[in-house]
Amino acid sequence: MQELRVDNYVITTPIIKILRQLKLSLTNGKLKDIRDGSENIVVTCPHHGGGHERTPACNIYVGSDGKAEYGSYRCFVCGDEPGGSGSFVRFVQECFECSETYAKEWLLTKFDAEVCNGARLGPPIDLESLQPKRFIGLDKKVLETYQPWHPYLGERGLSREICEFFQVKYDPQLRQIVFPCFNSKGDLLMMPRRSVDYKTFYLDKTMDKPVYCLDYVIKNNFKKVVITEGPFDCLKGNQFGVPTIATFGQISDSQINEINKSCIQVIYTMFDNDQAGKRFTEHLKRKISRRIIIEEVQLPPSKKDLGDLTYEEFWNSLNKVM
Ligand SMILES: [Zn+2]
Repeated sequence: MQELRVDNYVITTPIIKILRQLKLSLTNGKLKDIRDGSENIVVTCPHHGGGHERTPACNIYVGSDGKAEYGSYRCFVCGDEPGGSGSFVRFVQECFECSETYAKEWLLTKFDAEVCNGARLGPPIDLESLQPKRFIGLDKKVLETYQPWHPYLGERGLSREICEFFQVKYDPQLRQIVFPCFNSKGDLLMMPRRSVDYKTFYLDKTMDKPVYCLDYVIKNNFKKVVITEGPFDCLKGNQFGVPTIATFGQISDSQINEINKSCIQVIYTMFDNDQAGKRFTEHLKRKISRRIIIEEVQLPPSKKDLGDLTYEEFWNSLNKVM
């Protein structure tokens, strides 16, 4: 029989029992499925797709033949990514989205643990103080102070419905269009802006850029998306009926990481039809997880970006690679 080790302790509670307790302790809907087995327990992966995959693909090894570390996990879908495989402590981290310290203390305080030979017991642990602080984002009340529409949005070919759906706003004081960015929990992360008078774009440089509309993709478990640079192009793609996300210019490493962790399986690139756009496509192809397929969409030569396309041109371009 192998043992579940956490630092100098051995946890004697069976892993299946820990998993059932873990599921009850989570408020994020992870671990929907737990299927017991003699060698492997199969569970819904806590890492990819926001932890909401439909068919459980994550294996936790509980066999006794030493083929793997006892309690270690590996997801069939995202196992090659950081977070897609590892020790049982790492698994708990992925479930709570917490620190290693918290995961260890949670295990040691909730379950039966024995001190390994020669190890000394530390001071009692205050689990409350280690509780992960959930990021709650910006105050959404500010959105209510903005207007839901400005004619400039119409000039960019956007409908009132699509702007309302993605909570695009107009800030009359600064004369700017506001593009609220949310995470899949609904927290307001950032509010990039664009002047209605000048071609100026405003982005908070002190934070990691979110992926625009990725929350919508995750919530709906969309597998195939279009990717583009700017928020206007992104809204246009969604208006044309294809889930579309945007990078606000050059795609960053943190954005690629967010996409890798998501439910997305195929990305159709529709960056701007210029040299920079080509570079973004190459960069994305180099850095994206190997489980995601990248299909390059060629825009008609006379068109500079997605926002420039008619509905027919958009679908003709996309249908060539779909
Ligand atoms: Zn996974």
